[in-house]
Amino acid sequence: MVASEAFPLAKTGGLADVTSALCGALCKRGHDVRLMLPAYRGVRDAARAVPMLELGDPLGVGTTRLLKGRLPGYDVEVWLVDNPGLYDRPGDPYLDPAGHDWPDNHLRFALLDRVAAIVSIAGVPLGWQPQIVHAHDWQAGLVPAYLHWWGGRRPSTVFTIHNLHFAGRFAPDLCSRVALPPAAFSMHGVELYGSFSYLKAGLYYGDRLTTVSPQYAKEIQTPLGGEGLHGLLQSRNVDLTGILNGIDTQQWSPATDPHLATRYDARSLQGKAAAKRALQEELGLAPDASAPLLGSVGRLTWQKGIDLVLEALPLLLERGGQLAVLGSGEPGLESAIRYAAASHPGRVVFRHGYDEPLSHRIVAGSDLFAVPSRFEPCGLTQMYAMTYGTVPIVRHTGGLADTVSDATSATDGVGFVFAHPTGTAFGAALERALDAFADPSLWRELVHRGMQRDFGWSRSAIAYESLYEALVQSREPQEQRPGHEQKQAHPTPA
Ligand code: ADP
Repeated sequence: MVASEAFPLAKTGGLADVTSALCGALCKRGHDVRLMLPAYRGVRDAARAVPMLELGDPLGVGTTRLLKGRLPGYDVEVWLVDNPGLYDRPGDPYLDPAGHDWPDNHLRFALLDRVAAIVSIAGVPLGWQPQIVHAHDWQAGLVPAYLHWWGGRRPSTVFTIHNLHFAGRFAPDLCSRVALPPAAFSMHGVELYGSFSYLKAGLYYGDRLTTVSPQYAKEIQTPLGGEGLHGLLQSRNVDLTGILNGIDTQQWSPATDPHLATRYDARSLQGKAAAKRALQEELGLAPDASAPLLGSVGRLTWQKGIDLVLEALPLLLERGGQLAVLGSGEPGLESAIRYAAASHPGRVVFRHGYDEPLSHRIVAGSDLFAVPSRFEPCGLTQMYAMTYGTVPIVRHTGGLADTVSDATSATDGVGFVFAHPTGTAFGAALERALDAFADPSLWRELVHRGMQRDFGWSRSAIAYESLYEALVQSREPQEQRPGHEQKQAHPTPA
């Protein structure tokens, strides 16, 4: 498994949660998994990693080696690509402390991918070789490309799209710098509208493609949701599967959550009322048990649609509601939320930044949870919300559509769903939710139904397992796929 994030070692979003939970679930099912990550600052110590293999300088970026450690909280072995010049830095996996992309991200992730390719082919002195290399998102997109151009016997590759919007686009003249042959820069290769795209590499060269919900798998094959890649994805339709993400119930369960002062489950919801009280106190909201509290946690970007919530804020306030937002992102959206909070002290609160424990307390302490995304490959927070008895309001898109059924139109509904990405449509769903909140027995039923849904990983892990097994059995040579040009000889990666 190759990824740029894994909880709790490095996390900026859902990718980290999914990588760790999937590896953990596969290990529990008896598979022999290694998770490869860059050795970002602090990760080596957190994983208690020790040197395992000297790799020389595989990409002209300085001496590189592989470390071996454990993923804390999971029974999973982690292999860290250690290159202090590239990874031992402040900031997050992608951005410097000022919030700008690291200018050498193309090299930072090419090295991760190059090392993954090197150690997964035969002949490397590790005594271990995978049958499948599973690469996640653009940061790992070159793994299938390297293995395709390798030319010798190689493991099969799976490439998972967690978000098609992030294409990992760089200057076109990158092939020789990242040790791919010039022929790879082609429409039948890594080229995407004139640039070099790591995502396109994964989509083009991966033996199988998956994405994180069945609905998103359909949407990305349309011009509206395909980010300019719908043609390629349509052509790869038979190789593309949508497998819904699960949630990690070891990390996200109100009955065991260490971040909550009072734990609870569906049978004893007093703990949830206590979580709301505690959250109101922690955030400086008016201590009012009857005020419907709407929570939101996530990246503050156009995709996530927090502006729709702000448009409907007058309605929420008119009905006596409160709003708690945790996140960071686009400056314009941040300042709009900051302004709303300053205008309504005690009723609207904004916590800027990334705060894992607080995210748990907002999920637990809110009555309603807003996920009004313009598009959403899967989305995890709506599943966390339901598990914690917090009723989600979501847009009908991607994984939100696959996980939340509308309580007005379905007898077994678990949330409130709206179709159009407008403040008015969100407001109409919010009104329905507030009406339901005002009816205690209806609300209790809704809360219970959400809490009873099983969002655990086992079903998804079985789906990945079936995919891996089919791939191993087929051993279909990648180059026989229609549309693939003949492979060229290429020097060995090492
Ligand atoms: P995405 O990966 O697109 O950002 P997801 O819903 O798939 O969205 O996953 C987001 C994950 O990141 C969730 O685990 C969520 O709780 C977490 N998260 C997002 N923003 C924050 C934040 N500011 N503080 C704490 N956790 C956050």
